[in-house]
Parts: sequence; C-alpha cells; structure tokens
Amino acid sequence: MNENPITRRELLNRVSTAGLAAAAWRIATPSADAASTTAQAAQQGPLARLSEHLAVFRGPVNVGIVLDDGRALLVDCGDGRVAQHLPQLGVRSVEQIVFTHHHRDQACGAPGFVESGARLVAPAAERDHFAKVDTYWNDPARRWHLYNLHPHHLILTESVQVDAAVSDGQSLSWGPASIQVLATPGHTDGSVSYLVEVDGQRVIFCGDAIWDEGRLWELSSLQKGITTTDYHGFLGAREQLAKSLLRIKDQRPDRMVPSHGHIMDKPTQAIDALCRRLETCYDKYVAISALRHYFPKMFADYAGRPGHMPIRPGKPVPACLRHFGTSWVLISEDRSAVVMDCGSPDVIKKLKELLAKGEIRRIEGLWVTHYHDDHVDAIPAFQQAFDCPCITDRSVAQVISNPLAWRLPCISPSKVRVDRVTRDGETWNWHEFRLTAYHFPGQTLYHGGLLAESGDLRMLFVGDSFTPAGIDDYCAQNRIWLGAGVGFDRCLELIEKIRPTHLFNCHVDQAWDFTAEQCRFMRANLAEREKLYKELFPWDHPNHGMDESWVRCHPYEQNVKAGETASLRVVVTNHSSAPRTAMCRAVLPRAMGWTSTDWAQAEIAAKAEGSIELLFKIPADVRPGRYVVAVDLRYHMWDCPQIAEAILVV
Ligand SMILES: [Zn+2]
Ligand SMILES: [Zn+2]
Repeated sequence: MNENPITRRELLNRVSTAGLAAAAWRIATPSADAASTTAQAAQQGPLARLSEHLAVFRGPVNVGIVLDDGRALLVDCGDGRVAQHLPQLGVRSVEQIVFTHHHRDQACGAPGFVESGARLVAPAAERDHFAKVDTYWNDPARRWHLYNLHPHHLILTESVQVDAAVSDGQSLSWGPASIQVLATPGHTDGSVSYLVEVDGQRVIFCGDAIWDEGRLWELSSLQKGITTTDYHGFLGAREQLAKSLLRIKDQRPDRMVPSHGHIMDKPTQAIDALCRRLETCYDKYVAISALRHYFPKMFADYAGRPGHMPIRPGKPVPACLRHFGTSWVLISEDRSAVVMDCGSPDVIKKLKELLAKGEIRRIEGLWVTHYHDDHVDAIPAFQQAFDCPCITDRSVAQVISNPLAWRLPCISPSKVRVDRVTRDGETWNWHEFRLTAYHFPGQTLYHGGLLAESGDLRMLFVGDSFTPAGIDDYCAQNRIWLGAGVGFDRCLELIEKIRPTHLFNCHVDQAWDFTAEQCRFMRANLAEREKLYKELFPWDHPNHGMDESWVRCHPYEQNVKAGETASLRVVVTNHSSAPRTAMCRAVLPRAMGWTSTDWAQAEIAAKAEGSIELLFKIPADVRPGRYVVAVDLRYHMWDCPQIAEAILVV
C-alpha cells in the first residue's frame, strides 16, 4: 500500500475554505488553469473552434458552445471550468445548457451557471436524476441488495433545478442554430444526442455513446438486464447502444462530438468500428460464460458456435455432502459438519433438522465463500443458533465484517462476526479431511475458495465463480480483473495446479470437473480478451474501463458528528504496468459550505492499490441527515471530476 506522504496535520491545515463558492464559477477572465491539462487539451489548447458559431471546450468532458453575439448555449457543462475560457470567445452570458445525460461529470458545474442565470434543459427521461436526486441517495434499494444498477451512482450529489425537458424528435432553435433532439439510450437509459445545424454544417453531440473510432470511455454503464435484473446483464445495453449509434449515423453528421473522447470527422467509420468490436467482445464473453448454465434461452443464438466452450456434464455428489439453498455442508465420518454460507433462515431450519435426525452431531465451522447477500444474509441468525467459528478469506472478511464501508453489487447490510481470517494457501486438518483456504478472485474480487481432500477426493468449493458452462463474470461491477495471475486467470491457474476431482458451485446441485483442455481454453479466451478490450478503451490497461471501483472511497458510508473532523480514504487501483501519480480532493455538500479540500497526492506502484487520506471538518451547525461527498481525481493524464462518492450520515 502506498501511503499518502502528507501527514494528517498538514492536511488539516490545508483544508480550503474557498474552492467551490459560486463566485468561482462566474465567467472570469481567462487564466492559466492547471486544471485543464488533460492530454488532448495540453496538445491542442482547450478550445476547438468548429465554425463561426460553434466551438468545443475540451476539458475533462467536451462542452459544446453555440455562440450568438456575446451569449452562449452549452451542450453539457462538465465541472464548470469552461466558464473561464468563454471570454476568449466573446461570451458574456450563458443562457442555456442542454444536457445529453445526467452523469455527474457532465453536469456537476451546473449550479454555478444557474446562479448566473442559465436555464437548464435535461432529457425528459432523466429529469428526476437532475432535479430530485435526494430520492436516489435516500433510497435503501439503491444502497443494499443491489441487483439493478440503473441509474448508477454517478448521479449528482445535490439536485439542480431543471427549466425544461426535451425528448426524441423535438427541435429547438437558438440564435443561428437549429438543434434536433435524438433519443440515443445505451450509456444511460435516457441519454439523448443533439444534432446542431449551424454555419452550414451538421455536428452531433452524442454524450458517451462513443469515445473515438471503435472505442468507449468505460463499459460498466452498459451493464443492463433485458429479461433479468441488470446484475445478469454484462454488455446488456450493447444492442440499445448500437441502435442509437445507427440512428446517429442515419443523420449523416459531418462531425461527432462525444462527451469523453475525441471529435470525430468520420462518424460512419467510427460507429461501424465500435459496433463490430462490441459484438466481438460479447461473443468472447458468451464463449465461456457460466450464465449459459442458468439461462440457456438467453444464449440460444450462440449455441454451438465455433470457439464456444461446450458445457461440461455433471457428476454425482460424494456422500459426505449435503446441499440446500446456497449452502454446501461437509460431513465427516463422525458426523461433524462444516457449513458453507448461510443466505436464508431456511438453511438454519434444515441444519436443525439434520441435527434432530442425527445425520449430523454438531456444527464445527462456517466457511464464507463471498460477500453476496444470498450467501451471508442469515449469518447473524446462524451465529445465534450455532456456536462455531466463522472462517473466511481476508478479502471476504473485510467486506462482511463492515458492510457499511462498501458499495458493491448484491451487498448485504448483515454484519458478520469473523473469528478466523485465512491466508491464501493456509492448510489445516479437520477430521479425515485436509482443508486448504484460497483467495479466489473469480465472480468477485472479494471471494475465497476451499479445498477439501480425503483419500482420492479433491473437492474444490468455488463459491459462485464457475458453473459447468464456464466463468461467472456477468456483473462488471463485481470487480473482475483481466490479466495474468489476477481474477479468473488466477483461479484457473489454481485449478490446473490442484486438478480437483470435483468442483462445487453454491447454486448448482451437481458436481463437475474441468478438463485440462477446458482450463487452457478459458485462460486463452481471457488472454485474448485482455488484448481485445485494450483496443476498446483509451486506458493503458482495460481494467480501468471495466472496473468502475478502481477509484473508490473507504469507508463508503460512515456516521459522523457535527463539529468533528471526518476522514475519508480514496483508494485507487493502478491497473497499469507503470507507477502512476494520483491526486484527489473532496467536494463537500452545500450544507457543509460547498467547498473542496486541497488536493492531496500519492504515488501508486504498478498493479497495486494505493490510498490517499482526505480530512475535513464537519460544521458544528450542520443538520442531521445523509450527505454525499464527491471526489475529484487527477490520475496520470486523466482528469476526472466527481468520479467517486462517499456518504456521510450526521
Ligand atoms: Zn456519462
Ligand atoms: Zn455470488
């Protein structure tokens, strides 16, 4: 771990009191602004003039600027720093801002413009994601048991007033420009694009539908359920996105301006390349997807395709095991039991029945495979019913012993007492079995594996990570990393080494095994994917585009008292093969003065996690309530306003 070189005291001294005051957002004379040094901006200057009445501010997001005699209409506003560059274009007032979608990095600068008199125009389907964000932040369904991820957490921390909403087919005329609204869902459910016709050219502002030719800014926004919850929908929005891109193409724009990314002069070529690449990525995903076991209908079109791994037949379960709910129970010759996971009170009932019938004599341990709610919800009740140690991998223990500190898919609010934390490869004897615990970052990064050996049996309990159809990577938000020695490659390497006679998934009644050939096949697929996804994103390692928690706040949620100093760690995972510098600051809510802390920075080693501590004072007069603190990040060449958030409960 890289620790922040700045001491707590220094940080406290550096807490800024100005920062985000509204005045800072008013249009000022241009100044040398260190903030606008994104890679492109540094090369080409932050303003790109497309024609007499149209310019683009190339900051952290591209902001469209339609000009008319000293006044301007903006397409998105980013974090608002565009204001400092408007005087160069002769702009004295921003009259209107039209938004492509609600994401925080598009819109967090809006309040400053509103104070200077700008009207805000939002896509009708996303109006509430601007104007009523409290409903999102206060809804327990957006915090716990997360299976639906739309809208996702990049929502404004505080509401802004929306003056008008637009929907598909609507036309606006403003100054010399005519602007047509096109519904282009995909990146978000309600995303729109604006076709601006001015000075004899057609320029389309398409939000985050594309980054550059054949590329996307990130992939987690495409996680979407069509026939199931979003949880099972890896790349689920790709068809919706492709349809939207084809609509954009049909408009025959001369240029395409994405929110994140490069201005494209060959929209057709750029779009075709992205659609092709997304299909290839999806095909590679389906080829070894565990989901084919659970939802064969979902993949009917792909059955028997060349390059797709055949589903392995099951095999009988050895007599020393019982399976109910998501729990496997390992029973020794003297009828002692180890239980794996406890997702529902039914498991406790079944265990009591086994005890009553004498099938088991006593329960000697609880092993937890991973943190998901369907595996841990009833553990507190289990711990009241049975007196035995709870054992799990370190990665799992850190989540289940303090769930308030995490925001992850399927997270349970149940707080678990962990009695023993295992190291990767730790071995012990239990009756006639030799047990070995592993860190097993498959279905999620926070996952363990348990090997039970006795005689000829080598039984590996893989939690939810594999089914006979392959790997369980259908929820991008679970933090599934690509690369040699991490994620599923690490799990498969272990399986190749152990050569288990039986594999067990918590949701599958049967046992199965993988052949050596299948293990090689899956590892080769993952290696190809690493290359393929690298092409899809602008990042130097694809995990930055896949793993939305590469920047996260720890704790995610905490209780604080008015008047005290709060501490927040920003945890950054550097997936690159070179060290990187990360700088961040906290953006405090209006009730806490609407200020930001000073920047703090850390050097993060290659392929490692580092953290930066931010300290700030909670005002003594703040009202009790639930507040959202956002975090601005500058990382290597990337400038990412409000990329993560944390919840403070006063
Ligand atoms: Zn976005
Ligand atoms: Zn799971």
